[in-house]
Amino acid sequence: MDNRYAKMWEKLNLDLSGHDALLEVLGKFYGDIYLSQQNRLRGAEYLDFVVSEIHGLRIKELLQARERGQKVIGTFCIFVPEELTIAAGGIHVGLCAGADAGKEQAEKILPRNTCALIKSFVGFKLARLCPFFESCDLIVGETTCDGKKKTYEIFSEYVDMYVMEVPNKKGPGDRELWKSEVLKYKYKLEEMVGREITKQDLKNAIKIVNNKRKVLQRLNKLRGNIPTPISGRDVLLVNQISFYDDPVRFTEKIECLCDEIQDKVRQGEGIVNKDTPRILVCGCPMAVPNWKIPYIIESSGGVVVCEESCIGTRNIRDLVDEDGDTVDEMIDALVDRYLKIDCACFTPNEERIHNIMDLIEEYKVDGVIMYNLLFCQPYLHEAMKLERILNKKGVPVLNIETDYSMEDIGQLKTRVEAFVEMIGY
Ligand code: SF4
Ligand code: SF4
Repeated sequence: MDNRYAKMWEKLNLDLSGHDALLEVLGKFYGDIYLSQQNRLRGAEYLDFVVSEIHGLRIKELLQARERGQKVIGTFCIFVPEELTIAAGGIHVGLCAGADAGKEQAEKILPRNTCALIKSFVGFKLARLCPFFESCDLIVGETTCDGKKKTYEIFSEYVDMYVMEVPNKKGPGDRELWKSEVLKYKYKLEEMVGREITKQDLKNAIKIVNNKRKVLQRLNKLRGNIPTPISGRDVLLVNQISFYDDPVRFTEKIECLCDEIQDKVRQGEGIVNKDTPRILVCGCPMAVPNWKIPYIIESSGGVVVCEESCIGTRNIRDLVDEDGDTVDEMIDALVDRYLKIDCACFTPNEERIHNIMDLIEEYKVDGVIMYNLLFCQPYLHEAMKLERILNKKGVPVLNIETDYSMEDIGQLKTRVEAFVEMIGY
């Protein structure tokens, strides 16, 4: 156990031995998947530091912020507007949902045929393994897929839960509904902090979150070079950390990482050679510490050049318009920006197809790997449709259905190796 934080974890009522075992396994995984990479960028030290302190220093910061009266809001979906949380002086964090730990406990209160991501966040809470859950003042869910909607009903017996309604379509009436939900979330935060969010609060918050998205856009643009200057694993980790770390610090650190990458690009250097098959991964989110698929791809001769995912381009593609001068104008800008999210929970969702076609062109993709979590109806349905469309356009596709277990690694690796070999010719 890390003695520096033992008391803090005990106070948070974590299962100390289970938590120790989890950190040990994660440390080993991290070493195998990340620290073993050759020619890693100097800026990756920041990533290693954040991961090593994810349950330590970051939790300490959250608890200190709470002592100062700031609210910590835990979320599971990119639909919950971080701008409002920040405008209310709060801290917005994504909650662990990327590992199998706690699955048995989760299956006691959820159907077994629930996706791994949902079982994971429920499991982390029930098994008392996640210090983020225990540091939150409020958990905010959303009515996206059926699995999450129904889980939140049960989950509210264990945590203080607030649920935003996300429409399933994007017509004018749906926009009104979404705007009312964004306003309700604003009122909820104002009630929690006992003051109104001012126009300056909201303006600053929009800038902070836009800057975070802009630096991630810059990173993505740079990685698109041939040869690619940074591994897909590292970019995934950057995206994952963007949900945990302080947004201003994160932006500064990733700007430095981008400067370093820019130098490499100028010198024509990459982490792989220019003929390495370039893969676009599409589909379900990969929450920390889910590094399974990029690791398999990059240890099978391919390189991930883009993630079409909520922990990827879906979360960073669109910025909030910064021209609004009143709170109402800024709320409208937020509403419009968030309604551009092309989650598979929407019907129809044609824009996702166009966005994927654009990414294939922009990142000079050789093949697409559809990453679907077992039992995820929205993404599994869209994967089949997308596979047909991409086949027609002559874009090689591999459709994968998996969960967080390690049992299918061998079988997946065989399929991915064959795919990479096929597109490499
Ligand atoms: S896939 Fe959809 S439901 Fe899941 S985090 Fe993204 S926007 Fe939210
Ligand atoms: S991965 Fe699919 S089933 Fe799971 S929470 Fe996201 S949208 Fe729902």
